[in-house]
Amino acid sequence: MERLKGKSVYKGIALGKISVLKKDDYVVKRVKIEDPEAEIERVSQAREKAREQLQKLYDKAVKEVGEASAAIFEVHQMMLDDDDYNESIENIIRTQEVNAEYAVATTGDNFSQMFASMDDDYMKARAADVKDISERLVRNLYGGDGGDMEFDQPVIIVADDLSPSETVQLDKEKILAFVTVHGSTNSHTAILARMMNIPALIGVNMDLEKLKTGMEAVVDGFAAEVIFNPDEEVRMDARKRIQEEEEKTKLLLELKGKENVTKSGHKINIYANIGSVGDMGYVLENDAGGIGLFRSEFLYIGRNELPSEEEQFQVYKQVAQTMAGKKVIIRTLDIGADKQADYLGLGKEDNPALGYRAIRICLTQPEIFKTQLRALFRAAVYGNISIMYPMITSVEEVLEIKKIVKEVKDELEAEGTPYKNDVEEGIMIETPASVIISDDLAKEVDFFSIGTNDLTQYTLAIDRQNEKLDKFYNPHHKAILRMIQTVVDNAHKEGKWAGICGELGADTELTETFVKMGIDELSVAPSMILKLRKIVRDMP
Ligand code: PEP
Ligand code: MG
Repeated sequence: MERLKGKSVYKGIALGKISVLKKDDYVVKRVKIEDPEAEIERVSQAREKAREQLQKLYDKAVKEVGEASAAIFEVHQMMLDDDDYNESIENIIRTQEVNAEYAVATTGDNFSQMFASMDDDYMKARAADVKDISERLVRNLYGGDGGDMEFDQPVIIVADDLSPSETVQLDKEKILAFVTVHGSTNSHTAILARMMNIPALIGVNMDLEKLKTGMEAVVDGFAAEVIFNPDEEVRMDARKRIQEEEEKTKLLLELKGKENVTKSGHKINIYANIGSVGDMGYVLENDAGGIGLFRSEFLYIGRNELPSEEEQFQVYKQVAQTMAGKKVIIRTLDIGADKQADYLGLGKEDNPALGYRAIRICLTQPEIFKTQLRALFRAAVYGNISIMYPMITSVEEVLEIKKIVKEVKDELEAEGTPYKNDVEEGIMIETPASVIISDDLAKEVDFFSIGTNDLTQYTLAIDRQNEKLDKFYNPHHKAILRMIQTVVDNAHKEGKWAGICGELGADTELTETFVKMGIDELSVAPSMILKLRKIVRDMP
């Protein structure tokens, strides 16, 4: 039995087998072989396995994110059968008498370079697909795991670190908990763990080489510890506490259908934060009054090309229809910093958090922004969609956004494409500048939603990704609380509403304070909704 401490990202208890995710450090070597036909047969088996894997991924993606997003796996399946690609592999094996891994990797590199040099954007995007396919084949050839992160049984994921794009690819039904060596409590990976409603520990000083997939562990998010190879007493205690947690959850479920109202009659809205259509189940299960933050950038990451207007339209429409008239606030693309998509070619920056991200990308590359806006205004016909713009620092940015929105609406009008004209539009307040000029901004927008994660980062000058600074990252800092009050007051002076969609909104120690400040809405991980409802209902 080994007990290790970490930092808890989400409180809960899990007991189960671990799955150790190691970064693939396999290096393809060129090896002379005697029997080319045997190597060609190995490629054919690897291809067959890849076909099955891609079919599984396709089926899962259709269920979770819709047919349009899943199409990429069909493209990959087609590429597997491409004659030129397969002839090149066989040719290298036969003429050079080399191993299958080398022939596949070389063909992959050649083909992806060829695609990358083409003028056509569609063909360019195929470069990453060929690379993906080749890496998959190589992995199947040497018998590596990883890649798809597919599990048959629910497991506790143990890893060095997880990026947001790796986290979104995980099958949420099959994960009991996360335990990682690195990561900060304010990172998007931590946020995703909270969304998934599972215990998660980061900063655990463990030796991944010694841990074996299949070992048992208990993850205790309350005590911030993980126990590998637990003895019977620890296991029994964990089982008992899991049951107690389930009973507490059941009690909370009795609050479903009730209002978020204090004893003296003060009401607030409690909405849910989501990252994908796949989170809608949690939203309904926990009786969210609406969606206060749909982080649309998760549609853009963990893939090889921009999502099309149609694909986005279908997703936004589905969310709006599912919420059946309840408010759905969709935030426009907030990519950059820790949320990366290679195909956007954002490049390395010395200070990514202070860099080319979010609205700055949208205002610099309006074609990307316009595609999303078209999808949003079209989808708004099907429900109660509001649009929210991230990382605002000035009134000028808002005016520029308005100009682009007008162009988009004019285009939709001219084409005769159905869209909704009077969509509520608001901004995130997550920079100190936007707090200070919130009196001016309130005149230009319909609502404010305070992003306390970034607001804390920029106000306290602390990189939210830097795990060494976790102990200094204090969102309870007086400066932050005063800023929230300023924003609420300035919104109300103009008859606008103000909410919080950063993680602080779910901090139960502050719920009463926020209600007293006059906050109109708290948007939190779905699992926190009923907990906050209880606090509000118990308030005088
Ligand atoms: C925030 O910054 O508080 C926020 C809600 O946005 P994100 O965490 O996605 O940056
Ligand atoms: Mg933010």
